[in-house]
Amino acid sequence: MDTIEYSTRDTEIISKIKTISEEAKPEDCYTCLKCTNGCPAAKLFEEFAPHKIQVAAHMGFIDELINSGILWYCFTCYTCQTRCPQKTSPVQTIMSLTNIAVSWGISPPKIYPEMIKTISEEGAILKPREVSTIDFDFLSRDDLDLPERGIKNPTQFKEALKVVGLNEILALKESEVQK
Ligand code: SF4
Ligand code: SF4
Repeated sequence: MDTIEYSTRDTEIISKIKTISEEAKPEDCYTCLKCTNGCPAAKLFEEFAPHKIQVAAHMGFIDELINSGILWYCFTCYTCQTRCPQKTSPVQTIMSLTNIAVSWGISPPKIYPEMIKTISEEGAILKPREVSTIDFDFLSRDDLDLPERGIKNPTQFKEALKVVGLNEILALKESEVQK
């Protein structure tokens, strides 16, 4: 069994998380596992367990967590937060840590820059798709008389992208993005 090297602890991490989310509170977790037992991502990915992330964050062992890419498995469904008897929020811890990771220059998985690119071009995560009727006729927005999509005020929208820091992610090179 591997031993834990205490000198690798980040003792500042709880206060860093607190500045991003007051609700995360990994220090209040008493490892009852209710979050993990209800977590859909934990059912799909054996190595993913929100209670372990709370404990690792509380103890300050975050390097491995952040570098493993495991934090990005979370679906942000908030089930863990609603199930927690201690009123802590594993999902907020996870989102805080992903924010910290990006601020350290660690890139998110490829899908995120792709979604951000679509947002910057279309104002939405997904491009418009045709929908199928019960008879498998495919209909477009035009067929359904839906209004045109698009960004109403492109200048204001570009400014907003800058303020929330999406431009930095859009500027990442292919080689810097996790597969
Ligand atoms: S449900 Fe709450 S107290 Fe229980 S393990 Fe998860 S975070 Fe900790
Ligand atoms: S928000 Fe993330 S960690 Fe929480 S239950 Fe949903 S998938 Fe699991």
